[in-house]
Amino acid sequence: MTGQDRTAVTIDTSKPHPARVYDWFLGGKDNYPVDEALAEQLLALDSRGRDIARVNRAFMHRATRWLADQGVRQFLDIGTGIPTEPNLHQVAQRTAPDARIVYADNDPIVLRHAEALLRSTPEGVTEYIQADVREPERILELAQGTLDFERPVALSLIALTHFIGDDDDVYGIVDRLLGVLAPGSYLVLSQITGDFDPESAARAVELYKGGGVTLRPRTKDEVTQFFDGRELTAPGVGLAAAWHPELGEPAAEGDDTIPVYSGVARKA
Ligand code: SAH
Repeated sequence: MTGQDRTAVTIDTSKPHPARVYDWFLGGKDNYPVDEALAEQLLALDSRGRDIARVNRAFMHRATRWLADQGVRQFLDIGTGIPTEPNLHQVAQRTAPDARIVYADNDPIVLRHAEALLRSTPEGVTEYIQADVREPERILELAQGTLDFERPVALSLIALTHFIGDDDDVYGIVDRLLGVLAPGSYLVLSQITGDFDPESAARAVELYKGGGVTLRPRTKDEVTQFFDGRELTAPGVGLAAAWHPELGEPAAEGDDTIPVYSGVARKA
C-alpha cells in the first residue's frame, strides 16, 4: 500500500462522501448517517438510485472481463470506491490470474478497507494508492512500481469523472494519465448524465453541493469528448446498460434508461 498509513486514517462523518453514498446505494455497511441522509434525498429525486449504482457496477464487470479477454494484463483503476465483491481485480484475475492491478482513491475510508483490494492471486499483484486523480503525475509515479508502462494498461475511471468539475481540467487529467501509457492501452470510463432528466440532475447537483461535494453530470457529447483522438471500440459511447449486455448477467427491466454513459477506447 502506498501513499498513507492506514492506521492514521481519520474519517469525517460530518459531511457526506461520494464513496460512502455509493456504498449505501449498493447495500453496503461502510456509510454514516450523513451519507444515508443524502442518499435518501437523491432517492426522492430519482427512485432508481440503487439501480444506477448496480448498472454502473455491472458495466465495470463486463468491461474488465472484456479487456482481460483482449489480452490486457495491467489495470489502473482510479476512483475505486469501497470494496464490493467482486472487485475489479477479482473479475480480471478470474480470466487472467497473472493480472496486475493498481487501485487509487482519495477517500480515507477506501484506504481503511483496502485490505480487501489487496487479496491478489499468487500469480498476479494488487496495490492500493491513496491519491487524488487531480494529481495524475503522483498516481503514475506510485503506480510505476507495480505496472510496466512499456506494456498496455487499462485506465479505468468508472463513475469518477462526475465528481470532477470543469475547473479541475478533467479532460486534461485524462490526457495526462493516458499520455504516458503504451500504445494498445485502453480508457474505460462511465459517468452520470442529466440528458434524460435535466431538472432532477440539477437538483442532485444542488444536494451534493449542500454536502460540500461537486457533482458534474455531462451530456453525451461531453462524455464523448473524453474519447477524442482515441479508437472507440463498439458500441461507442452510450448508456452503460447497452454496453455489450451479452457479456454479463441479464439486465433488469428498466436498465436501458439508467442515466449513466460509458465507453471503452484504445490508444493507438
Ligand atoms: N469506481 C467504483 C466506485 C465509484 S464511486 C465503481 O464504479 O463501482 C466514486 C469514487 O471516486 C469514490 O470512491 C470517491 O471517493 C472517488 N473519488 C471522488 N473524487 C476523487 C478524486 N478527486 N480522486 C480520487 N478519487 C475520487
